[in-house]
Amino acid sequence: MKNAGINGYGTIGKRVADAVSCQDDMKIMGVTKRTPDFEAKMAVEKGFPLYISAPEREGLFEEAGIPVTGTIDDLYEKIDIMVDCTPGGIGAKNKEVYQEKGVKGIFQGGEKHDAIGQSFNSFSNYKDAWGSDYVRVVSCNTTGLCRTLQPIKDLCGIKKVRAVMVRRGADPGDVKTGPINAIVPNPPTVPSHHGPDVQTVMYGLNIVTMAILVPTTLMHQHNLMVEMESTPSLDDIIDTFEKTPRVLLFEANKGAGSTAQIMEFARDIGRSRSDLFEIAVWKESINIVDGELYYMQAIHQESDVVPENVDCIRAMLEMEEDPSKSIEKTNKNMGILG
Ligand code: NAD
Repeated sequence: MKNAGINGYGTIGKRVADAVSCQDDMKIMGVTKRTPDFEAKMAVEKGFPLYISAPEREGLFEEAGIPVTGTIDDLYEKIDIMVDCTPGGIGAKNKEVYQEKGVKGIFQGGEKHDAIGQSFNSFSNYKDAWGSDYVRVVSCNTTGLCRTLQPIKDLCGIKKVRAVMVRRGADPGDVKTGPINAIVPNPPTVPSHHGPDVQTVMYGLNIVTMAILVPTTLMHQHNLMVEMESTPSLDDIIDTFEKTPRVLLFEANKGAGSTAQIMEFARDIGRSRSDLFEIAVWKESINIVDGELYYMQAIHQESDVVPENVDCIRAMLEMEEDPSKSIEKTNKNMGILG
């Protein structure tokens, strides 16, 4: 049994804490909070030992009546690995502290690849993280691109990918960002940073991306155009997506024609927080025109990276050498479909 901590119990952190807790080979020893808000209270109610990441703020927790087990320094002594889920840019600073404390660290997509030195996707480069000390799980968009491009690459090789990403303006619980009534080229420059980010895990892939932000909170949506090395049949592509773990095909003409309906599906199957860990590909959108593959997919940004964090722990702590066995175990324990 390996011991993990979560630094930053927010959107990603609370989901990774739950995902680790339902595995039988790893355990959450504690989660950290800076602010004594309802999330801190719920962490305690769920049974996660709560540690303060800013010890000078201990008084605030006392005032709020939220019991804490200690400060983050106490947590370092209990763990094999810290899963850093703090806001983008803070993780890179925390890396220096983890190095001082001799604790391994997983970081999220808000950190720059170069600041951490190594990036991870379960399907693309699991084995490269074997025994590593500091690894970044790529962002929600990059994870979504890798989940469907890797099986296509394995099936028939890829010459070039072009992708246009329609990004959610904010997470559902976020009141600080937007837009609320605009379409924003983001970044306004082409290509966007997403292509180079995919190349940190799918080495040498020829990919060019562009992205816009839109006023929605539910999911990101991607439009992909893939030039392939050889041309499989449409059935081969559909069959490949059907067999790929963490990818689900949805049919627009059977009530799943939008991100709203796909999220409704996640609620209906009883997923906690209405999470959809799987990448949703619209079956009708899959087509081959003049030898080029086209498809559309949707990404639940708050949750798709969560199973990858679990696999990353297994690779870094040398718990399972075979990526497909880790993926299968994570999926089974989290109730992931497909
Ligand atoms: P969040 O704001 O929801 O949660 C961050 C948590 O860290 C909060 O609990 C906050 O109180 C805490 N925190 C803030 N400053 C801290 C500090 N200095 N030290 C310790 N804790 C601190 O953020 P999030 O959306 O969960 O994002 C976390 C990381 O995951 C970022 O790198 C982000 O880019 C990445 N990510 C986010 C999403 C998404 O859609 N939300 C998807 C994939 C990856």
